[in-house]
Amino acid sequence: MRTVPEFWDCNCPHQYVHPRAVAVCKRCDARSQDQPDSRFTEVMRMLLGEKAIGEEEPTPPSPTGSE
Ligand SMILES: [Zn+2]
Repeated sequence: MRTVPEFWDCNCPHQYVHPRAVAVCKRCDARSQDQPDSRFTEVMRMLLGEKAIGEEEPTPPSPTGSE
Protein backbone atom coordinates (compact mmCIF):
# COMPACT_ATOMS: atom_id res chain seq x y z
CA MET A 1 0.00 0.00 0.00
CA ARG A 2 1.32 3.41 -0.91
CA THR A 3 1.91 5.72 2.03
CA VAL A 4 3.11 9.30 2.40
CA PRO A 5 5.85 9.78 5.02
CA GLU A 6 5.21 13.52 5.12
CA PHE A 7 1.83 12.87 6.74
CA TRP A 8 0.57 10.73 9.62
CA ASP A 9 -2.74 9.41 10.91
CA CYS A 10 -4.03 10.21 14.38
CA ASN A 11 -6.90 8.42 16.12
CA CYS A 12 -9.69 10.83 15.30
CA PRO A 13 -12.64 9.51 13.27
CA HIS A 14 -12.41 12.54 10.99
CA GLN A 15 -9.58 14.80 9.87
CA TYR A 16 -6.98 12.34 11.09
CA VAL A 17 -4.37 13.20 8.47
CA HIS A 18 -1.70 15.58 9.76
CA PRO A 19 1.55 16.84 8.29
CA ARG A 20 4.62 15.67 10.17
CA ALA A 21 5.19 19.33 11.13
CA VAL A 22 2.26 18.83 13.51
CA ALA A 23 3.74 16.90 16.42
CA VAL A 24 0.56 16.14 18.38
CA CYS A 25 -3.13 16.02 17.50
CA LYS A 26 -4.87 18.48 19.82
CA ARG A 27 -8.07 16.47 19.68
CA CYS A 28 -6.95 12.93 20.47
CA ASP A 29 -3.40 13.54 21.77
CA ALA A 30 -1.87 11.10 19.31
CA ARG A 31 1.79 11.84 18.68
CA SER A 32 3.39 11.98 15.27
CA GLN A 33 6.29 9.81 16.35
CA ASP A 34 3.95 7.03 17.49
CA GLN A 35 1.63 7.03 14.49
CA PRO A 36 1.92 5.45 11.04
CA ASP A 37 2.34 7.23 7.75
CA SER A 38 -0.87 8.28 6.09
CA ARG A 39 -2.15 6.44 3.08
CA PHE A 40 -1.80 8.27 -0.19
CA THR A 41 -5.53 8.11 -0.88
CA GLU A 42 -6.33 9.56 2.55
CA VAL A 43 -3.88 12.42 2.06
CA MET A 44 -5.42 13.24 -1.30
CA ARG A 45 -8.90 13.13 0.17
CA MET A 46 -7.82 15.49 2.93
CA LEU A 47 -6.15 17.90 0.51
CA LEU A 48 -9.06 17.91 -1.92
CA GLY A 49 -11.89 18.00 0.61
CA GLU A 50 -10.70 20.17 3.46
CA LYS A 51 -14.02 21.89 3.88
CA ALA A 52 -16.27 20.87 6.76
CA ILE A 53 -14.96 17.36 7.27
CA GLY A 54 -16.05 16.38 10.74
CA GLU A 55 -18.86 18.88 10.79
CA GLU A 56 -21.27 16.06 9.96
CA GLU A 57 -23.16 18.32 7.64
CA PRO A 58 -26.00 16.43 6.00
CA THR A 59 -25.45 15.94 2.31
CA PRO A 60 -28.40 16.96 0.15
CA PRO A 61 -29.54 14.30 -2.29
CA SER A 62 -27.81 14.65 -5.61
CA PRO A 63 -30.06 15.11 -8.64
CA THR A 64 -27.43 13.45 -10.81
CA GLY A 65 -27.47 10.28 -8.71
CA SER A 66 -23.71 9.98 -8.71
CA GLU A 67 -23.82 7.25 -6.09
ZN1 LIG B 1 -6.62 13.18 16.41
